[in-house]
Amino acid sequence: MGGKWITIEGIGGSGKSTQVQMLEKYFLNSKGLEVILTKEPGGTNLGVELRKILVKDLEMKPEYLSELFLFEADRHETVKKIVEPNVSKGNIVISDRGIDGSIAYQGFGRGLPIPLINNLTALATDNRQPDLTILVDIDPIIAQERITKRGGDEFDKFDLEEHKFQEKVREGFLYSARINTNRVKIVDGSNSTDKIHQDIINIIEESI
Ligand code: ADP
Repeated sequence: MGGKWITIEGIGGSGKSTQVQMLEKYFLNSKGLEVILTKEPGGTNLGVELRKILVKDLEMKPEYLSELFLFEADRHETVKKIVEPNVSKGNIVISDRGIDGSIAYQGFGRGLPIPLINNLTALATDNRQPDLTILVDIDPIIAQERITKRGGDEFDKFDLEEHKFQEKVREGFLYSARINTNRVKIVDGSNSTDKIHQDIINIIEESI
């Protein structure tokens, strides 16, 4: 297996971060491959600052288009500083969220036009797409229960949006999966963490 860029997507509380950790161990222990973990937003120095604005600061309410620009700026930094150099060295880059998040949140959630988002994302990524995207699909009601139980400092402003917003975001991820069937594979996030992990490994072994 050469270098790969794998993104894990889903609404907050779907279990993405849990699966990213499990996948890192799988690549290291079973495959002996070095893994670089990153996240959107927040994987680079600039991204850390953008993350504070985009997901932590409740007072900061950017215009939706400004919000999209900031996500795309974060994405450009990630692709240039983390994805390109590492994948070209043969490493595996796993990202907690990736390009589909803007379709789901800024497109379906906020209502910005999908072609605009696709154009900006293509610019931000130099037309590069993840080699594989795992969508952890889940009913927002279950996701919300998990977030409430999780507590801690994983606070994400988008998780505070109303139920209807989360439903639209879920639809956005499923839409992205439908139009990118080769790249995006769906797993059922309502299963146990071990079952989801096994489903993801099966997908990885089949497709990359
Ligand atoms: P995300 O990164 O998608 O927001 P997390 O991985 O942080 O989600 O998971 C949210 C919460 O749900 C955490 O407390 C986690 O331990 C728990 N969790 C994750 N996956 C599952 C699962 N498959 N079943 C039950 N609880 C889960």
